Amino acid sequence: MSVQTIRQVQADLRAGKLSCKGLVTNYLSKIEATKHLNAFLEVFTEDAIQRAELLDQKLKNGESTGPLFGVVIAIKDNICYKGHKLSAGSKILEGFTSLFDSTVVERLLAADAIIIGRTNCDEFAMGSSNENSAYGPVLNAFDNSCVPGGSSGGSAVAVQAGLCQVSLGSDTGGSIRQPASFCGVVGLKPTYGRVSRYGLIAYASSFDQIGPFSHSVEDTALVMEVISGKDNYDSTSSSEKVESYSTSLNFGKKAKVAIFPTTLSSDGLHKDVKGAVEGLIAHLKSDGHTVGEIDFAFLDHLIATYYVLSTAEASSNLARFDGVHYGYRSKQAHEMETVYKKSRTEGFGKEVKNRIILGTFVLSSGYYDAYFSRAQKVRRILTEKIRAIFKEYDFIIMPTSPTVAFKFGEKTDNPVEMYLADIYTVLANLTGIPAISLPLSEDEKGLPIGVQVLADKFRETDLLAFSEKLMQLEHNK
Ligand code: GLN
Repeated sequence: MSVQTIRQVQADLRAGKLSCKGLVTNYLSKIEATKHLNAFLEVFTEDAIQRAELLDQKLKNGESTGPLFGVVIAIKDNICYKGHKLSAGSKILEGFTSLFDSTVVERLLAADAIIIGRTNCDEFAMGSSNENSAYGPVLNAFDNSCVPGGSSGGSAVAVQAGLCQVSLGSDTGGSIRQPASFCGVVGLKPTYGRVSRYGLIAYASSFDQIGPFSHSVEDTALVMEVISGKDNYDSTSSSEKVESYSTSLNFGKKAKVAIFPTTLSSDGLHKDVKGAVEGLIAHLKSDGHTVGEIDFAFLDHLIATYYVLSTAEASSNLARFDGVHYGYRSKQAHEMETVYKKSRTEGFGKEVKNRIILGTFVLSSGYYDAYFSRAQKVRRILTEKIRAIFKEYDFIIMPTSPTVAFKFGEKTDNPVEMYLADIYTVLANLTGIPAISLPLSEDEKGLPIGVQVLADKFRETDLLAFSEKLMQLEHNK
């Protein structure tokens, strides 16, 4: 059964076939019935119902309605919503209530969306399987013995299981695209600077972006139109014009697509994932698009570069969680130093502590040049390489993840193997370009496979239009 798009829901609302309240109550009962998935950390029941009633009244009064009228949306537990709790999946923020709205939330509300709850995620968005949440893992709705991916696993499953129309996640190294791939939904990481991060709990500030999960490219486009654009509260946000993504979904041209053969010959690549990408490429060729092979020698360096730089930034960003400013304070601490030490030791989970220590190490004076400066140089080389590729090509296509959703516990003992789950996604964050994961295939057991499409900076319009084309190509085979 295909899921209704935003435009279809809105048409039904206008025709009186549905009400916002009816929509919300329906989602609330689905959330209740699927509690075992652990996708939501909190459901904003009363709030959502109240807002739905208000919106129904608005329509009845003939008032003008916003572009996301009646769209029920879930937000990742690292996005601030005034007066609502926020924990970033961590014990250290237990009991913390947000004092202000993030810019994305403000824009969603101004566009008449309804926020239904906050979704579970890996602690401080660090992880690829949702097993690092202090509030328990999220289950993949397709197969409950499999992870949903991470770190935005709750947001991905909320859409996958039909618990909301769309959701927001954050992507620092793949946290939107990889869970989208594991859950069979569309997930977009926008260009760095396209969407304001004001009110997003920072992980690695030169990488973090907020983006949507949805069932269709059109819904992704509609949400992007609302949340994108300059924001004076985030100096890294761009004033580049926000185009009308949702009305530009017709890709009339023939594309020039680059592929990196190294991405299809790497060791841990699942044969069905490889098959999905190769199948798509063959299909594109027969549809008249040009596909060129690029010699990309950096694949083996991406993970190391990402983990050096992102942990360095994380060690600085997470310094503010000190037992004084927010959330958790150790009961055993009685003077300044032990307040810091014990609160952080008890409040943070293992993976977060690992990364703070690693980040502090790579920034330490004796090792700064060997690790941090070096990784920055690699980042510069990658950016130049990508810029050169996009002078010749419109898009790059590669897998989103080397595997389909894996089993719980399968990679928890081996952090390096877990980090390798991000091998194809970190490139877009390292270079600031937009990238989308499209649910284009499945493995022999029916587990979803996402294919990733990357475009040049601020080319979201083309990226989304081409994505729409790919969805039609693959689903009408
Ligand atoms: N899995 C990656 C990590 O653990 C990506 C996280 C993210 O994008 N927030 O860092």
